[in-house]
Amino acid sequence: MDQTKEIDREKYIEAAEIILRAKYVTALTGAGMSVESGIPPFRGPGGLWTKHGEPPMDGYKRFLADPKKSWEDRLNPSGPMVELRKGLQNAKPNPGHTALVDLEKMGVFKAIITQNVDNLHKAAGSSNVLEIHGNVTLLRCIECNSRYKQDEISLEILPPQCPKCSGIIKSDTVSFGEPIPPDVLQGCQEESARCDCMLVIGTSATVYPAAAFPQQILRQGHPLIEINLYESDITHLCKISLQGPSGEVMPNLVDVISA
Ligand SMILES: [Zn+2]
Repeated sequence: MDQTKEIDREKYIEAAEIILRAKYVTALTGAGMSVESGIPPFRGPGGLWTKHGEPPMDGYKRFLADPKKSWEDRLNPSGPMVELRKGLQNAKPNPGHTALVDLEKMGVFKAIITQNVDNLHKAAGSSNVLEIHGNVTLLRCIECNSRYKQDEISLEILPPQCPKCSGIIKSDTVSFGEPIPPDVLQGCQEESARCDCMLVIGTSATVYPAAAFPQQILRQGHPLIEINLYESDITHLCKISLQGPSGEVMPNLVDVISA
């Protein structure tokens, strides 16, 4: 084994020891995990917005001003939305998603806070997933926050109305300018308060509100373990940083933990 690999091995063992000592491990996950499942990123090389230009930053205001028009646009997507939808439809969980399910089965891993909308953590079988930016397979009432599967809501009259409260239904994915749904935000805060070790996977955790949760773990005096392709803005705050795709790093880490 060459020297780099030897150093890596030590880092994996140290990370495994931290995780095994902890009582309530959580993860914050981001775009890196989606990209590994073939979903195009928004920014950076090959990003949808890099290619097509940034979308308007007031999407939620536009939705509220004319929900019918927003629904018509959604049902007839164009430009980057076509590419994004195709990527989302074809995406399957990767070994990084599956490794988090394995960790959960071991009993120490309790919750995932994700910035991804792709539903892949739930599709892989993780049971406690908090989707800060919503879930692309769901619709949500903007009044009472009830979630519905797409086929539970008739689209004959636009915008559709909530069967429970007659509020307007929109996509569950959070639009630009839209507040994070309060039930999700509260869940994230509760999980972060209990957490004594957070894995930060495929995200530089610089965008709020997601960025607040690793900061909270640090304030509580607990460690962060980073899994990312590159050094990021929070690498220097992490106890351990494991570099590489989550689909390789996470299964390796699970192997070391269960050894
Ligand atoms: Zn409702």
